[in-house]
Amino acid sequence: MPELPEVQTIRNQLRSYLPLTIERIKRSPELKQNILHTKIPKNIVGATLKRIKSHGKLMIFDLGDLYLLSHLGMSGSWIISKEKLKDKHLHLQLDCGKYFLSYVDPRRFGHMYFVDKKGKDEYLKRLGVDISSEAFTDDYVWECLQKGANREIKPFLLDQKYFAGSGNYIANEVCIRAGLIPDRICKTLKIEDAKKIKQAFHSVLEGSLKNNGVTFSGGYRDAFGEAGKGVQNLVVFHQENCGLCGTKVRKVMLKGRGTFYCPLCQS
Ligand SMILES: [Zn+2]
Repeated sequence: MPELPEVQTIRNQLRSYLPLTIERIKRSPELKQNILHTKIPKNIVGATLKRIKSHGKLMIFDLGDLYLLSHLGMSGSWIISKEKLKDKHLHLQLDCGKYFLSYVDPRRFGHMYFVDKKGKDEYLKRLGVDISSEAFTDDYVWECLQKGANREIKPFLLDQKYFAGSGNYIANEVCIRAGLIPDRICKTLKIEDAKKIKQAFHSVLEGSLKNNGVTFSGGYRDAFGEAGKGVQNLVVFHQENCGLCGTKVRKVMLKGRGTFYCPLCQS
């Protein structure tokens, strides 16, 4: 958490405030220790934030010759406000005159990098196709399944080298919607399964995006500090009964991650 729908919700909300010119910055001592892995460039003050893009779970702030890459980790968010934000988990505040753009991260598992264009391109090379993009096709999923032949499907769906933007709730929900038991081995899947997986991603993302993301207890907040309402679309993840058939949902740990499935709908 946050996964692609939460990142895109924040991105979309911030876009309507652009461009923003940075007049002053403020940072917490923990920013350098835990979150920011590069120096803060001297020319940050005076730079104009022109565009915000994203790839998978990575937010890309375009500052002209400079980019800020931001991965929100477990609990990060960018909040836009007219007043200075008062929050004990505030780690970076960009004072842009009329507005303040603030990075808040209670658990401090987020990552940030100031990079040039080359640095940005190199970082993006490590990521697979964005699961919401047009390049995420049936054929692409089928190719991935062959590359992950001996892996279990649900942990495989978390791998950002193939499924950029996926995360634990998305992978759980894709498996139930595609009818696949989470520990199915990829090489036992057929091309029809690749199509179902692609369609399942589409359905999960759509449900989350139109509800401004999914918030579990104490979790993700959008750019206005609000919780997302996407929990109502979940079929098995942290659910008592399967949303498709009503059977009691089972929970196991698979490669260290909480995994939820319906013994009737998934095989
Ligand atoms: Zn079921």
